[in-house]
Amino acid sequence: MEVLFRHGVHLPEANLWLDPHQACAQAVVSHAHADHMKHHERVLATPATAAMMQLRGATRSQFHHLNFGATHICDPATDDCAQLSLWPAGHVLGSSQVLVEHKGVRLLYSGDFKLRPGLAAEETEVPSADIVVMETTFGKPRYKFPEAQEVFGDIKKWCRSTLDRGSSPVLLCYSLGKGQEVLAGLTDLDFPIYLHEAHWKMANLYRELGVSFPEYRLYEPGISPTQLDGVLLCASGCRRGRWFGELSDVKTAYLSGWALDRGAAWRFKTDVAFPLSDHADYDELMAYVGLSGAQVIYTMHGFEDEFARDLRAQGYHALPLAQAGKKIGNGQKSLF
Ligand SMILES: [Zn+2]
Repeated sequence: MEVLFRHGVHLPEANLWLDPHQACAQAVVSHAHADHMKHHERVLATPATAAMMQLRGATRSQFHHLNFGATHICDPATDDCAQLSLWPAGHVLGSSQVLVEHKGVRLLYSGDFKLRPGLAAEETEVPSADIVVMETTFGKPRYKFPEAQEVFGDIKKWCRSTLDRGSSPVLLCYSLGKGQEVLAGLTDLDFPIYLHEAHWKMANLYRELGVSFPEYRLYEPGISPTQLDGVLLCASGCRRGRWFGELSDVKTAYLSGWALDRGAAWRFKTDVAFPLSDHADYDELMAYVGLSGAQVIYTMHGFEDEFARDLRAQGYHALPLAQAGKKIGNGQKSLF
């Protein structure tokens, strides 16, 4: 099955676009993070992803819901048409891997994923495949994430000690996915949790979709106190808001897998950084390949060259997707 990197993942024989970066007539969208939020005419996604996209402003698209494990026949009018199914990816609630079956070949697109069980996303299930197209954001061995419970413990301790010093603790994280994972982990606190508007709306949607959280309150600039008596969760970009500058003696923490890098807090311009990620670490990326059973692997995002090289050293046919389909020396395409 031919697979190309052209503004997203393109399967020309099956006439399918997976997470395209530009508006398409029909697109499969793995999850509702901003890089996938284009105004496609028709979107195939899980009901949760569709609801999140609509909440985030994708109101012009026509949504076709596909539940995990259900099969979608791409073009029933033609013989040998492709079939696809969505599988939980554990990245954010409703996030999916996409399994495409065409002419007896099974291609698995990972989307963003992690294998570690989360508090606010479905458990990942990896179907078997012949070809894998996978994200490799943290595709270097030095990225090995600590246990989430350990990180939550550190975050809670930092919030408590910040409040004890009379300062206002603020956790900077994405309003979709990371925000809800943190919220779900902030259990047994003796101080309130405030959510800025985008976090608040997304948490409410997660709750409607069946996820439980500790109690939380909406932070309303101009109404809520500027000297916090609890922890505030908001997006990193909120730091540009005037209301943020009015908060009293703010201490900030950034929550990201990149916190494992030396000098991360300095780079994120925060007081501290905690290594909480919704992506797979290096060992999980390797485990994913093994679980899929595939021998042909295309990598994308982050350390795609390095991870493909490590896979080749183990005997896999592996190549960054950006190099797939390119003409090589004798005019052949670099497909396996
Ligand atoms: Zn994502």
